[in-house]
Amino acid sequence: MYNEKCYQLGSNRSCIRELFEYGCRRAAEVGRENVYDYSLGNPSVPAPEGVNQAIRDILADTDSVTVHGYTSAVGDMATRKAIADDLNGRYGCAVKPENLFITCGAAPGLTAVFRALATENAELLAVAPFFPEYRPFAEGAGLKFRVVPADEPDFQIKLSALENMLTPNTAAIILNSPNNPSGVVYTRETLTKLADLLNRKSGEYGHPIYLVADEPYRELTYGGVEVPFLPGIYDNTIVCYSYSKSLSLPGERIGYIYVPEAAADSAALYAAIAGSARVAGHVCAPSLLQKVIARCAGLRPDLEAYDRNRRMLYDELTSYGYEMAKPDGAFYLFIKAPGGDSEAFSQKAKLQDLLVVPGTDFGCPGYFRICYCVSPSMIEKSLPVFKKLIEE
Ligand code: PLP
Repeated sequence: MYNEKCYQLGSNRSCIRELFEYGCRRAAEVGRENVYDYSLGNPSVPAPEGVNQAIRDILADTDSVTVHGYTSAVGDMATRKAIADDLNGRYGCAVKPENLFITCGAAPGLTAVFRALATENAELLAVAPFFPEYRPFAEGAGLKFRVVPADEPDFQIKLSALENMLTPNTAAIILNSPNNPSGVVYTRETLTKLADLLNRKSGEYGHPIYLVADEPYRELTYGGVEVPFLPGIYDNTIVCYSYSKSLSLPGERIGYIYVPEAAADSAALYAAIAGSARVAGHVCAPSLLQKVIARCAGLRPDLEAYDRNRRMLYDELTSYGYEMAKPDGAFYLFIKAPGGDSEAFSQKAKLQDLLVVPGTDFGCPGYFRICYCVSPSMIEKSLPVFKKLIEE
């Protein structure tokens, strides 16, 4: 006997993983250089040298039992203090270490927050396009998952549609900016209007509607575009952050949850999140990585390689006639599928060894996603295939 829902989730692999694994098999057949794999968002720039140096220093100057031992479930104080200092220095806020909970990345942070918010009949709204894992995370936590239709073609937030979907059961809205898959950064104007709407509706319903800010791409923006700090705009924000992308550490599993003191029921909410993490078997985030973050919280990624790829792809693909929102952040482009059916387009592209992800699971079946954490030479070789596909 086993849980049927878990079986379904475990046996229906994500479309992104399927494509990636197909790409690996295909590379073994025709050579890696002949497969144009834009499927997976795995950072392609190395972690900053400061991270590797910190690991060497920690191993050299801290005793091994401490380095590899359990830490407090909420995280080492030195780590939380370093993160608080970094956020306060950048955003002029008043984060305390006690408001931070160190996680094994954004994904477990999100599931901990979702479970903490899952009261009876509670709903979570996600704005399309959205990271597909939100659905199993939310449903697994016991929340009803509902999708706010996309604001095409700019992929900001369609506030009228969102307002129509709010009900007294709305516990939270999940936002991801810079966005996976669109690369769009929500503007301060969009976020301020959203905050006004949520403040009004929270008053009407007599309970807070939380904003969950999923921010693994916070530092990945180009051309000086601002990523507004959401707790500075809306008090009832819960931030889920990750170092997977910003410090190129996706396999190391390190991030944090920030519950601002100004959020409604802040202390109780923090305790509920800690309890929720406990239910999921959270013991502590990796101790070595916590010590790295204590030394490296202020490091920023080198974005030059991503930016070069972004500009090359955006300029070339738009010149062929592809349409997409302006990608100001993250490392994705979300492109209108010629013919309007992204599943059909992705299949057609696959026949040419070009791997792009259909937008269906992101809540936008008319678009496909490409991830540009790839080599410039792969981009150059793939461009004629993109050109041919749109001409057909
Ligand atoms: N949220 C978004 C929008 C993502 O794109 C990802 C990973 O790709 C995650 C969360 C999960 O990140 P982590 O590796 O920190 O669990």
